[in-house]
Formats: sequence, C-alpha cells, structure tokens
Amino acid sequence: MSLSEIPSPAANPQVNDATGAAAPRCPECGAPVAAQERFPTWCPSCEWNLLPPRPSTDDLPPRARRRAEREERREEKRRREVRARTEQVFRLVSEGGSDLRHGASAGAFLLAGAVHLVSLAVLLAGVLLVVGWPLGGLPARVLGVIALAVAFLLRPRLGRPERSGVLTREAAPNLYGLVDLVSAELGAPKVDSIAVTSAFNASFGTHGLRRHRQLRIGLPLWTVLTRQQRVALLGHEIGHCVNGDVRRGVWTGSAVNALAEWHGLTRPSRGGGPNSSLVVALASAVADLVLGAVHLGVRALTELMHRLHLRSGQAAEHRADLMAARLASPGDARGMLRALSNAPTLEAALTRQRALPRAGGRAARAAAAANPAPDLWEALAEAVRSVPPTEVERRVRLSEREASATDLSHPPTYLRLRLLASAPPSDRPPLVLDAGRAAAIEAELAPSRARIAAELL
Ligand SMILES: [Zn+2]
Ligand SMILES: [Zn+2]
Repeated sequence: MSLSEIPSPAANPQVNDATGAAAPRCPECGAPVAAQERFPTWCPSCEWNLLPPRPSTDDLPPRARRRAEREERREEKRRREVRARTEQVFRLVSEGGSDLRHGASAGAFLLAGAVHLVSLAVLLAGVLLVVGWPLGGLPARVLGVIALAVAFLLRPRLGRPERSGVLTREAAPNLYGLVDLVSAELGAPKVDSIAVTSAFNASFGTHGLRRHRQLRIGLPLWTVLTRQQRVALLGHEIGHCVNGDVRRGVWTGSAVNALAEWHGLTRPSRGGGPNSSLVVALASAVADLVLGAVHLGVRALTELMHRLHLRSGQAAEHRADLMAARLASPGDARGMLRALSNAPTLEAALTRQRALPRAGGRAARAAAAANPAPDLWEALAEAVRSVPPTEVERRVRLSEREASATDLSHPPTYLRLRLLASAPPSDRPPLVLDAGRAAAIEAELAPSRARIAAELL
C-alpha cells in the first residue's frame, strides 16, 4: 500500500465546537485532530482513519463477497504471523541475545546446498546426454542441450556492481574520506566504489567473483537528511559489512537467485492460442499441469528460504541500526529512519515540479534544462521539512498496523525505532560531519545533482 499524500474522502471532518468555531474533531472519540491540507486527517487517540477506508463489499454478489472476505481473513492472518515473527526477532536483539548464526541460518545454508546440488545435477545430466551416455541418439542429445541451457540459467549469480553514476576516489575525495572513516570506526573493509543513484534509498552490496564492495547513495534521500543523519545512514549501510548478514553471502545469496530463476522457468503458460488444435491443447494442458506442480514446489522452497532468512536478516538490520546509533547518536539514527518514510512526499514534490510551467523563452528553458537542480532539490528539502510531526507519527503507526508486510528484508519501522529508543547512550564521541566537510562533499556531488535532476524531471 502506498502512503497517500492526498486526503481520503472521509478526511477533514468539520465539527463545530461549543464556541461555534470550526475545529476538526474525531468523529469516533471526539478528540481534537489536526487537519492538514496535504495529508490524511487521522486521530492519534483512537487511530480513526489511520488506514484508508476499504472499498465496501456490500454491493458484490454473494459469491464474490465471500471470496473477498476469505481473502481478507487470509491477509489478516498472514499479517499476524509476520508481526509475531518480527517481534520475536526484536525481543531477541533487544535482549542482546540474538545469535545471528543460529539454527535458521544453518537451515538456510543446507537448503542452499540442496539448491546448488540440483543445479549441478542438471549440468551433469546435460553433459552426459550430449556426449551420448548412457544412450546415444538425436533425441537424447537434444534433451542434453536443453538441460545445458537450463543449467546455464541456474548458474550461481554473483551480481554486478552498478556502472553508471559511479564517483571515483579522485572525483570525490571528501565523500570517500568520510565513508572510509565510517568503515574504520566499524572495523569494516574500505568500499571499492560509491555510486550515486536517483533512489530514495541507500544500499550496500558485495558483487562479482572479486567481491567488489559498492555503496549506493540515493541522492534524494541524502538531500533530506541532516549532516548527522547522513553519518547514521552511512553507519547503517557500512554496518552491513560486519553484522554477519548471511543473506548476502555467496552461498545462500546465489541459491536465492537460482530459486528465483526456477520460479520464472516453471511458471505455466496460460493455455494455447484460440486456434490451437485439440491435440496441441491437450498436450499443453498436461505440460502446464506438470509445470504447475513443480512451480508450487519451487514456491514452497522459496517461502521456506525466506522464513529461514527473515530471522537472521532482520536481526542483522537491527544490528546495523545500533551501529548507526553508536556512530552518530540514537537520536540521529531515529531521525534517519523517520526520514525514510518520506518516499511519498518525494513523489508528490516531483509531480508538482513536473507540472510547473517552464517560464520564459527558449533561452530560459534551455538554461533550466541545463541546470534544473537548484529548484528541484530545494523544493524537495522544503517538502520534507514541512511534513508535520503528526504525519510522521501516522506513518510509523501504519508500519505497526500493517506490519510492513510488503518488505520483509527490513524489520518494520516501528520496531526499528523502538529498538533505538532503548539503545544505550553511545560509549564514544560521535563521528561528526562538520559544515566544512559537508560543503566539500556537496561540491563533489554537484555534477550528480544535475544529472539526477534531469533524470527525475
Ligand atoms: Zn479518535
Ligand atoms: Zn539495511
């Protein structure tokens, strides 16, 4: 579900109070609510209108209604299960007792081994059939070639570092200097490259046979963070080098990729064309049935792998947050997490920017096209600055209600904030990004700003 910046129709109740002045009040509990033009109105006391109203099922025919209700119940059950699992991980980490390499990780490791064995078996079968053992003949060879092609698709993939938007050490000595400092503080190896992207996000990954360490910084996110929140962001991402996140290892990581490939390969086609003959239709129905069964099996395996990873992966994310808090401060780490909820604000600001009439003649338009950056980045920062605290609170509570069922790679925001709220005060002076270095980094990012603004607008 997306976080709307457009008030829902049920929003903005105008209930007159005793004095006759229009003061918005909650229609459920009567508590005063803050009405904002750009955001849904909701009640912090009773959480009225926290979730957008669901489309009513009353008008549906009985059968469709029952199906919708069943779907709804299933979804709710799934949410409850996800919440129970994520809160259990949270409890383990907050008690300081989460062992990242516990049984689930070992299970993921073994399951990955089984996946790799199947890939190896397909490869071997392909080679044997092609060389004509145990039986020769054209059909066997054709089968062998098909097996080899499948084996090629299932080969372990180690990923590739981003090539575009990469800043070299020579072009950005101050940014690399700051990142190296963060790495040194956390006991992590230095990054090999930094790529600047247009995402409202940041990430760290190790790619390829040579295990190239790449940090990706989304410029829109970077722009809306304060200096110390930027340090916290770097702390979290570089923390992924040293938090024992098994999801990123070569062994399990490539098995997950292979499973995704199986998933795509075994997806049954949706029947033949309308003109296909009876024989073709029958044959394709049988093939679909077989594929469908394999597909279900692959789905179950993927789900199992996912669950085995959830525990260790979310614990790793919490640890990365604690490293961010230790490096900057718990407050800055929390601010960084809250800022991450501004993706819809960015989208809205972009839409407004795109709708702006480009004033002036051709020359002015050309100038604006050459450097659209100042307007866009200032507008973006302003849009985020003007998000009221009640809206930030609404987004955090929404993450609890929905248990962030969309993205299980990270724990839901409310739990991450809760862990940081109880984090011990840092045992070391914070790593400070001072104004001088921040300005130098800004200058290094200027070419990226112009490029990404042109990309976004
Ligand atoms: Zn209320
Ligand atoms: Zn992370």
